[in-house]
Order: sequence, then C-alpha cells, then structure tokens
Amino acid sequence: MKPVNALLSATGTTVFTVMSALAQKHNAINLGQGFPDTDGPEDVVQAACDALKDNRNQYPPLTGVPELRKAVAAANARFYGLTIDPDTEVVVTSGATEAITACLMALVNPGDEVVLIEPLYDTYLPVVKMLGATPRLVRLSPPHWELPRAELAAAFGPRTKAILLNTPMNPTGKVFTTAELAFIADLMLRHDAYAVCDEVYEHLTFDGWKHIPLMTLPGLFDRCLRVGSAGKTFSLTGWKVGYVSAPRAVAGIVAKAHQNLTFTTAPNLQRAVAVGLAKDDAYFAGLSAGLQAKRDRLAAGLAGLGMGVLPTRGSYFITADFAPLGFAGDDVAFCRHITEAAGVTAIPVSAFYESEAPRHYARFAFCKREALLDEAVVRLSRHFAQAGRSALTPTG
Ligand code: PMP
Ligand code: GLN
Repeated sequence: MKPVNALLSATGTTVFTVMSALAQKHNAINLGQGFPDTDGPEDVVQAACDALKDNRNQYPPLTGVPELRKAVAAANARFYGLTIDPDTEVVVTSGATEAITACLMALVNPGDEVVLIEPLYDTYLPVVKMLGATPRLVRLSPPHWELPRAELAAAFGPRTKAILLNTPMNPTGKVFTTAELAFIADLMLRHDAYAVCDEVYEHLTFDGWKHIPLMTLPGLFDRCLRVGSAGKTFSLTGWKVGYVSAPRAVAGIVAKAHQNLTFTTAPNLQRAVAVGLAKDDAYFAGLSAGLQAKRDRLAAGLAGLGMGVLPTRGSYFITADFAPLGFAGDDVAFCRHITEAAGVTAIPVSAFYESEAPRHYARFAFCKREALLDEAVVRLSRHFAQAGRSALTPTG
C-alpha cells in the first residue's frame, strides 16, 4: 500500500490527550489539559438549550449567525475600541483551533515563511508545515520569557508572510507589553507581513495586566487576524466556538478556508455565545478575579513544596521549575511520575518546543475548584515529603 500522509504519520497524539488519558488511568487530579472543572455561566448555557428548541437547527450562514457576528464586532469596540464590520470582517469557526488553521490557510503559499515563537501551542507547527510553509522559530526562555529582539528581527526576511503571536501566552502566562508589540509591529511593517493573533486568553489576565491586541497598534489593522475563543471566555471549552476578526480583504479568504474545513458551526452554540459576549463588565472582571485567586492558591502551594514558581500574568497556567525537588529525570518523566505516584497530572513544558527544550519545567492548570487545587498540593507534598529515593526516581 502507498504510504499515507508523511507529516501526520510522524505527528504524535497531542500531549493534552496523552496526559488526560494517563490522569484518568491513575485517577489523578488533572492539572494537565487546560479546561475548567465547572461549567460556564448559566444564562449562556440556558441560551444554548433554548436555541435548540426554536427550529433553527439547519446550516447557519457560512461566516456565522448574524447575532454572533454582531456580538463579536461589538466586543471588539467595547474592549479595544476597534471598528469591525460584522458582515464582512468576522468569521465564526469551530473553535480557535480551526480559526488559526483557517487564518494560516488564508495567508500562506508553499514556500512562504511563518515566524513562530516557542514555547508554542501544539497545532501551530504541523499546520504551518502542512501548508508547505517554512517555520522560523524564535525562542523565549524561562524564567523570564523575554522577547529576544535581535533573534526575532533576524527571523524576518523577504519571504516572511506572517508571524503567529499568542498573547496572553500558553504555557508561559506572558502578556506581551506595548513595547514588545510595537517592536513586532515595526518588523511587520518593514517586511510587509501579516500576523495571526491567537488571543484566546484575552479576558484571562491578572494583577491589572491588560491584554492589548496587536491589531490596535498604528498601521496594523489591515495586517492582523485576531482570533478569540468562547471556550476560554465562557469556561465552556467543549463548545469549540471561535471567531476571527480581520480586515475585509483577508476575512473573505478566511471564510473560504472555513468553507473547506467545517463550513459552519453549531447554530445554538453560536447564538448562546452572542448572549455571553454581551454580558456585563462584572462578568468579565469576575472571570479574571476568580482565576487570579486560583492562580495565587496553586502558586503558593507549589512554592511551599519548594518548586520555583514562575510569574503568570494571564492564561490558565503556571509554569513551575521542579529542579529544586531533586527529581532524577526530565520533565516528561516528572509529569508521568507525579501522575502515577502522587496522583496529580501536569504537562511537560518541553512539549511546547520543537527540539532542545528546557527539561525541568512543568505546566500546571489552575482553572479548577479550589478544593481540588488544595488536594493536589496535599498529594504532592505527601509524596515528596516521603523523601527517600522512590519519591525522586522516575517511575517505570
Ligand atoms: N490557542 C491556544 C494558545 C490554546 O491554549 C488553545 C486551547 N484550547 C487554543 C488555541 C484552542 O482553542 P479552542 O478550544 O477554541 O479551539
Ligand atoms: N488548550 C488546552 C491546553 O493548552 C488544550 C486543548 C486541547 O486539548 N487540544 O491545555
């Protein structure tokens, strides 16, 4: 038989699925895959139920139901002062995952270069490669995750079609500053490049840090494709409703990509997300305040164990350095070991690098009930308090 697709054959199952399965097998507290363990707002869920019952269950319009496109445009104006035309500049997708793929499909031709920043979300690299584009990787390193400006500038060239920017960033919790965004903007303008902006954690920022869409910087509106996710904004990750806001000329091409990927997204969920985006300021403030308290709780617990907890300004995630514990193995072994032996699951940070990654950091999701976060810390401290070699030696 002829070989099937080479790139996908060489792609492993996503680390999030692998670690969730391992967590389930060992009945571990899953602080790996990033999903909240409580449902999103009741009125949004109720709106989805109600919308199932009013005979609008056939194919919705290709670019999204008008209610949601209007709500996305209104949210752009309300939160960032952006003027987006709901009829021509919004495309609703089945999750941000599809949105990111559709945006890249809309922009790149084989041979183009796409600048990516490591550590990176696991769909970026395979998609860029599948499109026949060449990834140009620039690396942020722990513990400060600073943008290496000279390296970033060197990654841009005449073949650069786009940069893919994730802020607030998974797994680092970094929120890019105006100065950093201005540096990226300057490179984009000088090299005539676009940006795919993965802003799924836009409303999950802490300590007064505010998310700034790259699209709001001077001269960048026509070059940015801004991606949001209802899953993250409403704690309903299984819904897989995403939205792209982009200038008309590009949005039309994103719609063509979407028509060939999924064509449409469940209409009742779209209509419920429209209700969500119109929620009052208290909802959005409460979302980030609630997560900030969880972050603080887990960060204190992990620090109490002796781990080096890196600061998190946004997202669902804490990165922790486990080297101080004295564990005799790398991050993959550590995450497997704590799942099997301590009953707590985390994600190895090296999974977010293509190669030669740092090997002593684990990512812990804190979007969980506080009792569960506490129990995770109790389990870890009980395990590591055993001292002795078995607590510090890789399992299996
Ligand atoms: N981008 C990043 C950085 C993410 O962490 C996630 C996680 N879900 C996604 C995109 C995908 O979002 P969605 O679930 O809406 O497809
Ligand atoms: N975004 C989630 C995370 O980083 C996972 C999403 C998925 O499992 N595909 O944990």
